[in-house]
Amino acid sequence: MNIDAIDLTRKLVNIESTSYHEGAVGAFLAEYLATQGYAVERMAVEQRDPALTPGDGEGERFNVYAAEQGATPDVVLSTHMDTVPPFFGCREDDEFLYGRGACDAKGIIAAQVAAAERLREAGVKVGLLFVVGEERDSAGAKVANANPRGSRFLINGEPTGNHLALATKGALRVELRAHGRMAHSAYPELGESAIAKLVEALHDVLAMPLPIEPEFGEAGATTVNIGLISGGYAPNVVADKAEAHLLVRTVGPSQEVKDAIRRVVAGRAEVSTSLDLACVRMRRVGELPTMVAKFATDIPMLTAWGEPFLLGPGSIHVAHTPQERISKKELLECVDLYVELATQLTS
Ligand SMILES: [Zn+2]
Repeated sequence: MNIDAIDLTRKLVNIESTSYHEGAVGAFLAEYLATQGYAVERMAVEQRDPALTPGDGEGERFNVYAAEQGATPDVVLSTHMDTVPPFFGCREDDEFLYGRGACDAKGIIAAQVAAAERLREAGVKVGLLFVVGEERDSAGAKVANANPRGSRFLINGEPTGNHLALATKGALRVELRAHGRMAHSAYPELGESAIAKLVEALHDVLAMPLPIEPEFGEAGATTVNIGLISGGYAPNVVADKAEAHLLVRTVGPSQEVKDAIRRVVAGRAEVSTSLDLACVRMRRVGELPTMVAKFATDIPMLTAWGEPFLLGPGSIHVAHTPQERISKKELLECVDLYVELATQLTS
């Protein structure tokens, strides 16, 4: 049976599934895939929204895994069910479907479901894995990785403009915490400004040379974003505390970057890291057009699911924005691309 990927995308976009609140979309998909004749499993994910008190209006969360009853899949198509906030529902014109998750990653879920249907009709042993929590802490991928199903290949979906990714950059979250001594700002010599130390350290972090990977082309630079900065009390108080949260997009081993940051900060702030997603390289397949993804994915967390590949319709530039959309043409082309890639890998 042919699955209408555009109609399925519409339905998925209209179910709100901001991270930590994926229960409804998971239930919809589990039921939908069971109707298609798959053996469907719900993998419970315990991780709760740290912003909520326990039991505070939260439903259950789970990954959805679907495959032929009793079969070990050769290839698993996978992406995430959660979206970033805020939710907005689906609207469309001739060319595009618009809405939260249209390209990141509900159109991809629909394309993978449609491709899997064609693959199993062709006799390919295929599985589907849809996880929660990708946009926050990869909680769903971590649970899935503890429960692998013996697949040889993992085709992960994120918006790559229907290009096969040859690499995804890594993501390293770094926190700098500076400490000082409070004083009346008229007598700065009696205190020690944590903000001044932090600002100077950050200045040197921004100026430091960082690794470059020429093979990645225009995606080959390590980049640093200082995304959050806080500290102090009032203009007339010398601050005793200040902190900054950085996200570094890496093109190689993260240790080199961590060491370099510690070196330039030179004790002016404590340096800690809270997320360290590796940069991953992947191989070329046939004549499929290629790219390098500057963003991170669940792939480094899904190492037990087979050799990874990354491919999906849509543009990451509109993901996480009010303009989020997916081209209907590109969505349907991606169904063919998933079928082609999975067929080449397994034949
Ligand atoms: Zn995504």
